[in-house]
Amino acid sequence: MSPIELNKRQNEILDIVKGNGPITGEQIAERLHLTRSTLRPDLAILTMAGFLDARPRVGYFYSGKKTSQSIADNIAQMRVKNFQSIPVVVEESMTVYDAICHMFLEDVGSLFVVDKTSLLSGVLSRKDFLRTSIGNQDLNKIPVHMIMTRMPNVTYCLKEDTIIDVANKLMSRQIDSLPVVKIRKDGLEVVGRITKTNITRAFLSLADDHDL
Ligand code: ADP
Repeated sequence: MSPIELNKRQNEILDIVKGNGPITGEQIAERLHLTRSTLRPDLAILTMAGFLDARPRVGYFYSGKKTSQSIADNIAQMRVKNFQSIPVVVEESMTVYDAICHMFLEDVGSLFVVDKTSLLSGVLSRKDFLRTSIGNQDLNKIPVHMIMTRMPNVTYCLKEDTIIDVANKLMSRQIDSLPVVKIRKDGLEVVGRITKTNITRAFLSLADDHDL
């Protein structure tokens, strides 16, 4: 990875921390006559890139490590369990009409379908519902198991998997979400949901600052 090029303000921050560290974000802001929130993205970049270290209740200090390796380290350590959402699950026998209502009420883009023993049997997306709705069929008479993408074709992940694994699966299969499952000997238990929104949140968390 090529080294990060710092802008003028980031170099100024670096000089202040070199000369005065450990120093809090608030103190750095004062010296630069800027607000703490203006500095937040710069501090996040300097910390993520490994120029600065940040310790809660101590402050920022210069670490001297001039690589962008720590961003890559941070990304590689992100796990599904830290970013997953609550799954929205329906039973196989639910009608397409009710499932569409459910999707609206729950405000999600996909539903996971479970069988009578509560194990994963399929996935339903908005396009599945659209496809069914443009046909001339009675949505109150079709159960969702007729239209879902079914096992074993459902792509899933485990809570210990990395966010990078998930991102790769979402991109290569061209889908928006994965069920997070626990593997049991009789099948897959749905324990979570991970979507492109969660990946975006994970991405943003890289710029989270350490609230110093
Ligand atoms: P949308 O319908 O909003 O574009 P997706 O891109 O997620 O949403 O879904 C496209 C197709 O892929 C649908 O037929 C859906 O059933 C299927 N699908 C969605 N998620 C998965 C998954 N995790 N595993 C397998 N198939 C999926």
